[in-house]
Order: sequence, then structure tokens, then C-alpha cells
Amino acid sequence: MNENILKVDDLCKTYRTARGDVSALDGISLEIQRGEVLGLVGESGCGKSTLAKALMRLIEVDRGSIELDGVDLLTLRGEELRSQRHRFQMIFQDPFASLNPRQRVSSILEAPLVVHKRGAASERRDRVDWLMKKVGLRPEMADRLPHEFSGGQRQRIGIARAIALNPEFIICDEPVSALDVSVRAQVMNLLADLRKEFSLSYLFISHDLSIIRHIADRVAVMYLGRLVEVGSPKKIFSAPSHPYTRALLDSFPAPDPSKAATKNRQVLRGEVPSPINPPSGCRFHPRCPIATELCAREQPELLPTAHGDFVACHFPLNGESRLLTAAAATPKS
Ligand code: ADP
Ligand code: MG
Repeated sequence: MNENILKVDDLCKTYRTARGDVSALDGISLEIQRGEVLGLVGESGCGKSTLAKALMRLIEVDRGSIELDGVDLLTLRGEELRSQRHRFQMIFQDPFASLNPRQRVSSILEAPLVVHKRGAASERRDRVDWLMKKVGLRPEMADRLPHEFSGGQRQRIGIARAIALNPEFIICDEPVSALDVSVRAQVMNLLADLRKEFSLSYLFISHDLSIIRHIADRVAVMYLGRLVEVGSPKKIFSAPSHPYTRALLDSFPAPDPSKAATKNRQVLRGEVPSPINPPSGCRFHPRCPIATELCAREQPELLPTAHGDFVACHFPLNGESRLLTAAAATPKS
């Protein structure tokens, strides 16, 4: 058994569009340990869902490798791929779009069992009842159609479908972003409970730092198709090493507004640049308060720091003071 349930190396994906080539993933490498939750954060459009779809083999990549428990997924085809399919599953952002509106919930949940030839009809029905209960829904409700459920209930159905085949690894792509704030915590708690009960590993994607902080064992920060920082939540949230992480934290509403007012906040400047013709060197350099000519020229590699995290920056921060001093010393026009 591998210590890493997932190992991704140098994954690259460029979408060819009429407006030009979109570099959505540019050399993504990461590992997720068995039972671990890796949180992936970054602004909208930075390539998070592209990574999720690539891992699920829903899109083809241009380069790189994906190993699930030592099995090279990208070389698998047809029956071989199907034989691994049950081991990794995905929960989508929009539970309504991902459920067939004309299919009763019972057949939505039974479908993966049928495809993978799990049990006789009566056993499958028992399994559907069990799945409904596991996600906090009454089994009788399985006779209904998706539109008869609330948003939170629909996401519970999406979760039930994802765990139907006893997966080891689940990609959660913004699983609560489309839900009412009032039900987000309930769905997050359900995901946390299931993780514990079934020793699941998650790649947990969100643009919302407070959600990542809540669930992640380790955090990866993504910017325009690249990872810029990977580390423990404690390190990332208290003393980020990358100026982008710092700016992302500062652009989020602080839990304590009185602190926020006195703090010298580094707010993100400008728009996310287009991934068509992305910036040279460090892709964050046009928005970075401490960027130099080197940053525009040379792409920084993701390297370990003395503080136990990994950062891709020519001038990693040493706590918060460094950035603020540097920014004050080199004002940009
Ligand atoms: P995120 O999930 O972080 O918001 P995405 O992975 O959805 O980011 O998108 C990354 C980039 O790739 C964006 O610029 C987006 O417009 C582009 N993109 C996503 N899907 C496609 C596609 N099917 N064709 C062309 N461009 C795409
Ligand atoms: Mg997305």
C-alpha cells in the first residue's frame, strides 16, 4: 500500500480556443496522503476545476502523470480504467446540474452499483436505503425526483452517489459554494463525518479561505495554473510565504473587524491577468507589491522553506513585516 493515495507530477493543460491558447494548468505537482484532506484555494479562473476534471479523467491533459495508489491513471483505457473508477469520485459544485432531473434518486444512487455489478437487485435497494441514511435523508425520499429536494438535500444526494462504491479518494470541487449559507455548515460537517468514518482522502477545492481553514490538513494555493505555496493551515494562515497568499488572506473579511482596521492590509491590485498569454516569469509579478525585474524574467520553482512549507517565490516573505516594509520601500507608480 502506498503512503500517497494520489501523486500528480508536472500536469499541464492548455485549452485551444478561438481567442487563443488558455494555459490552465502549467506544471502542477502534488501529493495527497492516505486519509489526508488537501485544501486547494485560489481565485476564480486559476484552474482549480481543470485540475479536478483532469484527475477524474473527464478531460485529457497535454503532459504529466497522475498516480492513484501507485497506478498510473493516464495510461489506463476502457475496462482497465473502469476497474479503478470506483476508487476515486467527485462531488460537484452545482448539485442540480450534476443530477439527471428525470431520474428518481433511487436510480441515481443505484446506477453506479449496476455499472460496477455490485450485488443483486434487493441488495442494491438495501444499499440505496443505507446511503440515504448515511447522508441524513429518509430512505422513502429516494422515490422522488431531484427538483423535489432543497439545494442542501440535493448536495447530500451528490455525496451519497460519490460514496456509493466505497471510494478511497474524493475530489470536492466547491461543494458548498452554491448552497445557502445556513446549510453550508451542515454539509461541511457531513463531509467531515464521512471522511472520518471511511478514512477518505479529499482534494477539497474552494475559493473560500474560511472553508479551507475549517477542513484542510494541508493547503495548496494556486495562481493562474501554478501552485505558489503549499503548507500547513497554521503556517499558511498565520505567516504565509508567498505575496499572493498574503494578499488573498488580506482580501478576505477578517473574523475580527477591529483588528482588520488597525492592520496594514495588502489588498490584491488589479484583475487576474488572462490565462491567454499569461505573464512571463512569476505569473503573479504584475500584481505583486515586491516584484523585481528578476520576477518578470524567471519563473520561481516551488521549493521548501526553512519554515516547513513550500513556496514558489524569488523573495519569500518572512512573516508579514517583510512584505509591508518592502512594499513601502519600493512604491510602484
Ligand atoms: P477555476 O475552477 O479555478 O475557476 P477553471 O479550471 O474553471 O478555473 O478555469 C481555468 C481557466 O481555463 C479559465 O481561464 C477558464 O476560462 C478556462 N477554461 C475552463 N474550461 C475551459 C474550456 N472547456 N475551454 C476553454 N477554456 C476553458
Ligand atoms: Mg471551478
